[in-house]
Amino acid sequence: MADQLSGAGRAAASDIPSLDRLLNAEALRPALDAHGRTQVVAALRRDLDALRKRALDGGLARHELEPAAVAARTSAALDKAAQPRLRAVYNLTGTVLHTNLGRALLPDEAVASVLRALTTPANLEFDLDSGGRGDRDDLIDDLLCELTGAEAATVVNNNAAAVLLMLNALADRREVVVSRGELVEIGGAFRIPDIMKRAGARLVEVGTTNRTHAADYDNAIGPRTAMLMKVHCSNYAVTGFTKSVGVAEVAAMAHARGLPATVDLGSGTLVDLTQFGLPKEDTVRETIAAGADLVTFSGDKLLGGPQAGLLVGRADLIRKIKKNPLKRALRVGKLTLAALEPVLHLYRAPEFLAQRLTTLRLLTRPLRDIQPQAERLRGVLAHAAGPGYAVEAVPMYSQIGSGALPIDQLPSYGLAVRHAGSGRPGRHLDRLETLLRRLPVPVIGRIADDALWLDLRCLEARDEADFSAQLAEPLA
Ligand SMILES: *Cc1c(COP(=O)(O)O)cnc(C)c1O
Repeated sequence: MADQLSGAGRAAASDIPSLDRLLNAEALRPALDAHGRTQVVAALRRDLDALRKRALDGGLARHELEPAAVAARTSAALDKAAQPRLRAVYNLTGTVLHTNLGRALLPDEAVASVLRALTTPANLEFDLDSGGRGDRDDLIDDLLCELTGAEAATVVNNNAAAVLLMLNALADRREVVVSRGELVEIGGAFRIPDIMKRAGARLVEVGTTNRTHAADYDNAIGPRTAMLMKVHCSNYAVTGFTKSVGVAEVAAMAHARGLPATVDLGSGTLVDLTQFGLPKEDTVRETIAAGADLVTFSGDKLLGGPQAGLLVGRADLIRKIKKNPLKRALRVGKLTLAALEPVLHLYRAPEFLAQRLTTLRLLTRPLRDIQPQAERLRGVLAHAAGPGYAVEAVPMYSQIGSGALPIDQLPSYGLAVRHAGSGRPGRHLDRLETLLRRLPVPVIGRIADDALWLDLRCLEARDEADFSAQLAEPLA
């Protein structure tokens, strides 16, 4: 580069304009209006430093010093830095509740409520009847009790926090009996034995990985036992020669010894999913009815709400939990409550749930919607991917995700992209996957079996035009 610059075109360090001159140049006006003086000065200093270095190396061209050129570089750098890091993406992974992509999507009612809570004062901890101080849990605990049949309820930041709080409040320096078949690790380093330790409780494992009997629990109960606990095997299934003890039986054994039985239900659904053609999952109400004294579950898995950890159960236990100092540390903010309340309201009208609750609408989206969409978008993607790739509309299976029903799969439809030419397909698929990921709204699929799979279940009709628009031109 340096030796290609002839004498007349080459700039010296002394030719570089001063910061003040640039700041007063008309060309810098748009950058100043968009980003403010502080950021523009910092960006200009960085640019001038780089120019000085290159001038000394003899590789700086005069036209690069034009105010318009400096302004263009400065604006580009500042625009890039101003781009939000948290961005919308298309989730075509086939996993509806994808933990890495933000899990449940909020229904419109919840979004409106969050917006209101963000922009206006609200009675978060203010009792409008008495004019006195209120408890933020009051906003949703009635609803939670109504929907689960529990006596009392409270809410914290996520289900991991709910389990930690429950164990610390009810089993500090005492023992908690759990089946070896239920010592689950959830993605992102939630492990029952570790949480137990942090909560100050001592884990007493009973049974074996594949078989735990009622007598195993019963024999483990001693003077230091605080509770019997069951944990939902959220992301794995134990099959074959297996035996586990149901909630009703564990609860009966606990109650016979004057102990509580608790259940970490994980995904925790509030309705019988089979009425929507989905696989059976024990509901929170069924778990309470079976005798569980306390149940914990997530707000943003099958429930379809914001990130939250819900605890429901016996009033005396919930009272104890609410008095624990960890409750204050793990409490939810107003945005969570603002989002949660309208979502819980939707459950009062199960007739409309599959339409109004976004998570359920996606999970129950019929093949007769998804398949024609795949056929419509096949040509769009083929054109965008270019002649090196073959795109087909094919049946595939979606997963619920987030540890709900790990082995059940939902029939879906989507696009399978394969490399059309010779050579190792992996490299070409990686390249296409990268190009899709770099779009203004990144498209996230998954590579398996020498194909890139884009499951269209989560691309709802209202988003299809925008999706196609960014694929209008060939990608490469
Ligand atoms: C998902 C899950 C958790 C963790 O819940 P978060 O809301 O992600 O904190 C804990 N226990 C079980 C059984 C789970 O499935």
